[in-house]
Amino acid sequence: MKLDVDVLRYLSKDDFRVLTAVELGMRNHEIVPTELIDRIARLKHGGTYKVLKNLLKNKLLHHDSSKYDGFRLTYLGYDFLAIKTMVNKGVFVAVGRQIGVGKESDIFEVAREDGTVLAMKLHRLGRVSFRAVKSKRDYLRHRSSYNWLYLSRLAALKEFAFMKALETHGFPVPNAVEHNRHCVVMSLVQGYPLVQVKQLQNPETVFETIIGLIVQLAERGLIHCDFNEFNIMIDDDEKITMIDFPQMVSVSHRNAQMYFDRDVECVFKFFRKRFNLSFEETLDDIDGSDEGRDEAGKPCFSAIERSAGFLDRELAASGFTRKDEEDIQRFIEGGAESDTNSDSEEVDLVEDLNEAGTVDGDSSDLLEQNEGYESQGKEESCEARESSGSEKQDASDNEENNEEAMENEAELVKSLNKQRRRAVAAARKGRKTVAARNSYKDKGGRSSHNSKIQKQLSSW
Ligand code: ADP
Ligand code: MG
Repeated sequence: MKLDVDVLRYLSKDDFRVLTAVELGMRNHEIVPTELIDRIARLKHGGTYKVLKNLLKNKLLHHDSSKYDGFRLTYLGYDFLAIKTMVNKGVFVAVGRQIGVGKESDIFEVAREDGTVLAMKLHRLGRVSFRAVKSKRDYLRHRSSYNWLYLSRLAALKEFAFMKALETHGFPVPNAVEHNRHCVVMSLVQGYPLVQVKQLQNPETVFETIIGLIVQLAERGLIHCDFNEFNIMIDDDEKITMIDFPQMVSVSHRNAQMYFDRDVECVFKFFRKRFNLSFEETLDDIDGSDEGRDEAGKPCFSAIERSAGFLDRELAASGFTRKDEEDIQRFIEGGAESDTNSDSEEVDLVEDLNEAGTVDGDSSDLLEQNEGYESQGKEESCEARESSGSEKQDASDNEENNEEAMENEAELVKSLNKQRRRAVAAARKGRKTVAARNSYKDKGGRSSHNSKIQKQLSSW
């Protein structure tokens, strides 16, 4: 995944306005009708169509005309929205090199104004999983193609909430700085994933520390669920930092015992193979007894007492709701059938739109127009379901789709120009266009906000 942030510099306020309009439209459309984008964005004189062309050229949008003429965000488009928000908030001023490609994320270095380097994780839930589950009809049937937006956003929210809570409780995790959409910014861990380490000064101590962390997490009510050599960072002083939290579960999860044992087993296996550790002696050293261990020296889930606070409950009150957790677990465990965004998400999006200086005015009006299209969108999806074999492309395939989109570009440009001419003609005639019916007004406060961002971005 290439993140060409240079493009960001050349994007105008109108570009972001239209990009945000597509994001809002994706609240209830997998493909947002072009006309709806125009109505939400409310650019003068058919400006939306010109901007759409530009966004498409830069692969921030994907065009789809299979059912009706419309667009959706690509990962890159979503990345840019999150990055711009972060820049606006002053979280960082520059994006640097990519430092990690996880299963379902891309990690980049970002720099603060004072030069401090942080890590930015862009979640890509659904990236790898989609092809694997493509054959599962149930999954597809209930799945909206724009789920990746929602799920990636949830993953980021969960990761941020867990990282913060773990840090508060003294666990060695990165410092959680900020999150927005599918993006989490955290401190940069100095060190390497354990998987890259061939030798340790004190393998026993490191091993004890890691097993100790699994036990302490469980005592606080949590299981990491992906506690392996890829998600354990170690520095030159052999200090451990754990990362990667979107899949963590409570010890009251129905499969808690299995997840716990799996985490323990992963660590045992890795240390046995890589560092030739024999565990019976090592574990005896931890506390001088084998209490709470099985005959192989592994900690037993059933013997763990929840002693020190209940992080799982604390987290439930952190803004990461039970429904969020259910949705994300359903996906991680293999059957994402979640509804897309909740009401609160809709409010967030409208706030984002206003905050970005893109659309001012009455959000309910905005939602109302969106509603008008919702039923149409639903009909479309029923139709798509019935017409077997014509499975719609998924959003997570957007790289491919973009290529396809580029092929269709000539046709699209023609169509956009036509729509644009129509809008311009309508405006000239003084006829009320669809957009003009909206009651919210552009208050014109756009320039100062935009120039600030441009200034920040141009310093990249
Ligand atoms: P995924 O959920 O996709 O596995 P991770 O959070 O495990 O993503 O990150 C993938 C890789 O990126 C890690 O193995 C690590 O090398 C690097 N990485 C992640 N977070 C940080 C960080 N805060 N500091 C330094 N490197 C990091
Ligand atoms: Mg990982």
